[in-house]
Amino acid sequence: MNAPGTPTDAAVPMVRVRGLTKRYGTVPVLNGIDLDVLRGEVTCVIGPSGSGKSTLLRCLNHLERIDAGTVEIDGRLIGHRRRNGKLHELKESAIARRRADIGMVFQSFHLFPHLTVLENLVEAPTAVRKLSRQDAERTAGDLLERVGLAGRQDAYPRHLSGGQQQRIAIARALAMEPKLMLFDEPTSALDPELVGEVLDVMRDLAASGMTMVVVTHEMAFARQAADTVVLLDSGEVVESGPPEQVLVDPREARTREFLARVL
Ligand code: ADP
Ligand code: MG
Repeated sequence: MNAPGTPTDAAVPMVRVRGLTKRYGTVPVLNGIDLDVLRGEVTCVIGPSGSGKSTLLRCLNHLERIDAGTVEIDGRLIGHRRRNGKLHELKESAIARRRADIGMVFQSFHLFPHLTVLENLVEAPTAVRKLSRQDAERTAGDLLERVGLAGRQDAYPRHLSGGQQQRIAIARALAMEPKLMLFDEPTSALDPELVGEVLDVMRDLAASGMTMVVVTHEMAFARQAADTVVLLDSGEVVESGPPEQVLVDPREARTREFLARVL
């Protein structure tokens, strides 16, 4: 186990999940998930509605308590610490510190409606990362350019299209300099003509080497951008592998059934 701040071995996966089990009350939602996401790789999670995709993402940054198993991000347990060989749940403040390295983008953009684009981008870096206002604004400007929205810093979210708002939400997550980005159906709430501009930003981000876990129904994106596609059904990993295998030549009947419905 590394001391805090110790750089981890490049060979350690960015995400390592073992035996992840999650119930809501007595209802099992995730039934012993194992998942590795290597550094710089993109994993797309697909599967039917209700299969546990959002819950899995929320467990990766410990927005949900888990009932069994472990989640390690960059070689560190996210919700627990290990002492004398036993796992102890961390306090929310400690979990929040570890979570600061993980960016998350939701289906509904969750921008602060009463704040301008610029304020949305500088809020967390100054409050949590303790960046100077000047540094945070400089980073925000760079990020706006990167997501194709240079010059929109004074707009309020309601003045932007859904696609623009989602690109701001991505920029806001990146402003925290995350090691890992989680996306939960980032284009599902968008009008069809706005989907492409968000996927383009995500493709650029993947090409820049960001490690990403993307829950999506965009099969063309998964085919093209994913290193690994994971099919989740009833809280289990049914099949996992490169897109040309899982999406084109699946081994499992449940994968074929799912693809027949969505393709
Ligand atoms: P997906 O994202 O694949 O559609 P979810 O992870 O949202 O699936 O949900 C998986 C299952 O867990 C569903 O049956 C859903 O109804 C249930 N569920 C999700 N969130 C909660 C919650 N907060 N309380 C109780 N049940 C939930
Ligand atoms: Mg979901």
